[in-house]
Amino acid sequence: MYNNETMRVRNFFRETLYGKILLIMLLTAAVTIVLIYALQEAVLKKSYIQLEEELSIKNLNRLTQVIGRDSSYIDRLLLDWSLWDDTYHFLQSGNRDYVDSNLSIDSLYNISLNFMFFYNRSGDLLWGEFYDFEKWEQIPCGGFSTTFIQQRDLLFNGDENFSRSGLLDTSMGLLFMAARPVFKSDGSGPAAGTLIIGKVIDASFIEKMKEVVQGEFSLYTGNRDDVLHELNISGSSFKMEKEENTIHLYRALEDMEGRKTLVLESVTDRNIWRYGKKVTTLFIDLILVIIGLFTLVILILIRFIFINPLHKITDFLRSWKKESGSPVGLETERVDEIGTLSRGINSFSRELQDMATTDSLTGLHNRHLMDSLIPGIWNIMSRDRSEITIILLDIDFFKKYNDTYGHQAGDKCLKELGFILKSSIKRSTDMIIRYGGEEFLLILPATALEGGLIIANKVQDLLQKKSLEHRSSEVSGHVTVSIGIASAFPNRENNLDLLIENADAALYESKESGRNRITVYRD
Ligand code: GH3
Ligand code: MG
Ligand code: MG
Repeated sequence: MYNNETMRVRNFFRETLYGKILLIMLLTAAVTIVLIYALQEAVLKKSYIQLEEELSIKNLNRLTQVIGRDSSYIDRLLLDWSLWDDTYHFLQSGNRDYVDSNLSIDSLYNISLNFMFFYNRSGDLLWGEFYDFEKWEQIPCGGFSTTFIQQRDLLFNGDENFSRSGLLDTSMGLLFMAARPVFKSDGSGPAAGTLIIGKVIDASFIEKMKEVVQGEFSLYTGNRDDVLHELNISGSSFKMEKEENTIHLYRALEDMEGRKTLVLESVTDRNIWRYGKKVTTLFIDLILVIIGLFTLVILILIRFIFINPLHKITDFLRSWKKESGSPVGLETERVDEIGTLSRGINSFSRELQDMATTDSLTGLHNRHLMDSLIPGIWNIMSRDRSEITIILLDIDFFKKYNDTYGHQAGDKCLKELGFILKSSIKRSTDMIIRYGGEEFLLILPATALEGGLIIANKVQDLLQKKSLEHRSSEVSGHVTVSIGIASAFPNRENNLDLLIENADAALYESKESGRNRITVYRD
């Protein structure tokens, strides 16, 4: 069941140009939006996500680099200290001056080392401290037991190339650690002992890393066996986990002993996809608004360019009457198709009007024209107090003519008479009307009765000269006409019908009194 409203909408789309254009625009908008969505899904989403993945991989790599850089910083530092004559002598002599001038908490802080341990060649600890820079104190019983150091193989073992460095998870936390034998500045030996240095991966280090990667990250020293296991199986250098708003990337890091026990996790915000989606939605909204405005402008333009002119044409055709055509002509200045249509309709209308007011056989006016023109003429004559004369004319024994020569010959005869009538009048205001089958009416405005008589005589003269054979006529061997003339001064009391009645009476008298003659009506 449709209610009135839906019917109206249906009709609007079905029956008006507006509706159809609106429908086309709406369909275009719908297709555009579907295309944009499809494009977003097929192309944009893919590339957004790819960008996000690349960004998170970059983040992970940067993190790995930062850790590597810190590690090599420690290595360089250790190289400097372990190839220094002062350290060499300290390890041999145990002279405390070295400690006082080089190993204060400030000195270590300046080179960002949390701890240094000096072991002599026999493996005895000469000096070792572990500083906590946050509390600015040395950690009581800090450092590692010699047993721990030995267990981890951190002491010089006679191999001149001995060197250890990397990350180590200890009871003191996760550390960067490095150990080397101590030689003289020129690299000569024998080695005086072992130098072990390192720093803690503490909160300030984490902060520094966060600044570098501009994102969250974590460094796991345990509990991530799941990730390690997966990485082991896949053999890939990282593992990716995508969540609604973040991408998590994991990588296994080797500790100092070459075991992959540490897991580095970088967390990257998925804002590219989020912003991309937002931008696309905004874009679609914008397109909707643009299409809306566009539709409005187009509808307004169409109203003025097409609909209004079409309505004018409809009005023109509706008001068209066969007697008078249309009171307003159509605009013909336009050069486009509507202009062509208007001009076509105008000339068609003129032709139609001519057809309606012209007798097709003789080309003379017919009675329609008379009905539409005479009232106006009557008024003018009435105002000017000028006389109007009419001549009513009927062919004698025309039925017999038809019977004798045939209908076609009759038509031809009517045409001939038409020519004769045309050549009998001179003034452009005079009118010849085919009044009936073979009856003609001449209306002669501003003409006195005498003038009418002259024309009537002229008609008969010309007809006689033409001498169209009519052997069955009872009055002559040629075609003849009977004529009745009447005239009047138009006023409000009389009218053309009255005058025609008078002329008809005079014509009747002409017929009665023997035909082929002229009778003037006199009252
Ligand atoms: P009269 O007027 O002298 O009394 O005799 P009539 O024979 O002319 O009489 P009437 O006026 O009654 O006849 C008119 C005839 O004119 C009848 C019809 O056959 C013929 N007629 C009328 N219109 C046409 C026409 O268009 N073509 C032809 N061929 N004949 C027509
Ligand atoms: Mg007649
Ligand atoms: Mg007749």
